[in-house]
Amino acid sequence: MKLSDKINTVKGVGESRAKAFNSLGVETVGDLLRYYPRAYEDWSSILPISQCPIGENVCIKARVMFPVKNERIRGGMLIAKVPVTDGEAVISLTFFNNKYLPSMLKEGEEYLFHGKITLGKYNSKEMLSPAFLKSSEQTAIKPIYSQNSKITSKNIEKTVKTVLSNIDPISEYLPGYILERYGLISLDSAIRQIHFPDNDIMLQKARDRHIFDELFILQLSMSTLKNHNSKAATENILKADYSNEFFALLPFEATNAQKKAVKDASKDMMSGRQMNRLLQGDVGSGKTAVAASLAYNAAKSNMQSALMAPTEVLANQHYDTFLSLFKDSDISCAILTGSTKAKEKSLIKERLKTGEIDLIIGTHALIQDDVIFKNLGLVITDEQHRFGVKQRTGLCSKGFNPHVYVMSATPIPRTLALMVFGDLDISVLDELPPGRQEIKTYCVPSSKREDMFNFIKAHLDEGKQAYIVCPLVEKSELIEGLVDVEAYYEKAQSVYFKDYTLGFLHGKMSPKEKDNIMGKFKNGEIQLLISTVVIEVGVDVPNAVIMVVENAERFGLSQLHQLRGRVGRGKDKSYCILVTDSKSEISQSRMKIMCSTTDGFKIADEDLKLRGPGDFFGTRQHGLPKLRIADIMTDTRILLLTQQLASELLKEDAKFEKEENVKIGKMVQRRIKSLNENTANTI
Ligand code: ADP
Ligand code: MG
Repeated sequence: MKLSDKINTVKGVGESRAKAFNSLGVETVGDLLRYYPRAYEDWSSILPISQCPIGENVCIKARVMFPVKNERIRGGMLIAKVPVTDGEAVISLTFFNNKYLPSMLKEGEEYLFHGKITLGKYNSKEMLSPAFLKSSEQTAIKPIYSQNSKITSKNIEKTVKTVLSNIDPISEYLPGYILERYGLISLDSAIRQIHFPDNDIMLQKARDRHIFDELFILQLSMSTLKNHNSKAATENILKADYSNEFFALLPFEATNAQKKAVKDASKDMMSGRQMNRLLQGDVGSGKTAVAASLAYNAAKSNMQSALMAPTEVLANQHYDTFLSLFKDSDISCAILTGSTKAKEKSLIKERLKTGEIDLIIGTHALIQDDVIFKNLGLVITDEQHRFGVKQRTGLCSKGFNPHVYVMSATPIPRTLALMVFGDLDISVLDELPPGRQEIKTYCVPSSKREDMFNFIKAHLDEGKQAYIVCPLVEKSELIEGLVDVEAYYEKAQSVYFKDYTLGFLHGKMSPKEKDNIMGKFKNGEIQLLISTVVIEVGVDVPNAVIMVVENAERFGLSQLHQLRGRVGRGKDKSYCILVTDSKSEISQSRMKIMCSTTDGFKIADEDLKLRGPGDFFGTRQHGLPKLRIADIMTDTRILLLTQQLASELLKEDAKFEKEENVKIGKMVQRRIKSLNENTANTI
């Protein structure tokens, strides 16, 4: 039997069973062997009843003391209470709805019971619904697999067992010196031991080997993607860096960080290779000016640029910004979105084809449409943290091979950044424009809302503007205790803010309506904007100085930080008010962190600690490559080892040409393919 054999070739796997395996993503024997157990039941170490800790899963060996009887209780449920003893102590086992139990458990016989110890009445120990085996049966560490309605963990276990006893030894692909240097067990043994470990130590070794493999191959793949930046087309080689010319057009002095970022990118674009660079900069650090400078450079070298924003609101904002930044230059820019009128659209497309337009701004549809450029040399994407490797490689596959510049406002801790953006070079804006004041952040209970409204009014009276963010869109979604935008708006406008102009904004409105409202807020017509998180990313209205977040407990730290970043963008003192009545520990710690720092990187680190990486980017698509077994938060030790090894190996043999590395190279090619398909790797 081979790894590539289809799962239905395994003895005992018929058509319907094969379908059930397919539903778990298991198509081949190799897939099955990579379907690692989710947990284990340890039947190999038996504890005396007296030493069983409360709350833990344990295995005991005990004798049934009396004949087992089922009783019928309310609702027709069967229940059996079974006292058992190991000779020293007694524990009561409870079983539900098992009518065969009396014939399965015999008085006076000894069994192994596996389950969680709980504390019953009178402080006596109990076990609820334990699994059991005859004590004469062979005991071991048993695998528990994630099951679904079509197939049980037991079925999976049986098939894995059959496969492991029939499969050819799994061939090793890591050279001996690596196995030796890191004390790794062979792949064959790691695969066997991860399913049926001999003991705890072997289980750990098997896990370590798989984690090592997964992270090592991933690092190599990300670096390979980065190193394989294709050659830039001759017409896409930047002739010179014209950024000083552009900086002179800015209404402010560029920060050193901005200048450095532009220099990094210009160097890439002059190098003769395609640029693949990430710009990381906290909210308000001035990424737009950097993008503008690059587009300026490109235009001066006769390349066209495309700037892609995640929403139409942002695309429109960028368009306005660029129009004013470029007003004293000969750079022509245009905007193309879903709501551009057909006639206008075809005109713009025509002008893109002839090369009249230097910079086109739009949403993602921009590069998916049948838009033809004369010479697209640079693609800039804003707030790219929503997109993964897959989308990035997709960009370049349009046949243009343009330079790619990715801008992200999500501060990502270093260990994660290497995973999400390891295929990119990185520039950081680690400096805010001068004159910014620290945003004062307060956390208040909802009973203080009226005081807060008065505070807002005082600022509106001075000509300033404010945001209020609510978690819900409309009443129909109303969940008790949560605030919704439309009701909030109505009440605020008719009761608290009668003499002021208010507006509301949410994701269910049409792009046109949204733009209309955003436009009015920008030019100051709307004083107070009540919105859902649609305004979270990127919106820039320097005159807005107060950000209120209702039901602040509903938002993660990174999201709160992004929201807060909508204020404090000008010279005026700004405030963030987090409204919550939640007493939960996690929301209390979030509020504390928000009130104590405005440093995005610190907040990202704390966020990670509080929630774990799975939740880090909230519910959005986060762009982290799928991992099968490694956990980048807890497996940092192996992550660092593999990082170092990967860079050593690539330095010596970047193309995996040495005999000992050829097989690794094959694994890397496979992984790059799966990165593009956004699946985890297979053997
Ligand atoms: P972000 O990095 O969040 O996209 P923006 O590019 O929107 O930030 O810039 C935030 C604000 O700071 C804008 O109003 C912009 O005009 C202003 N700004 C950017 N760079 C500077 C600078 N060097 N000096 C002063 N203000 C700046
Ligand atoms: Mg921005």
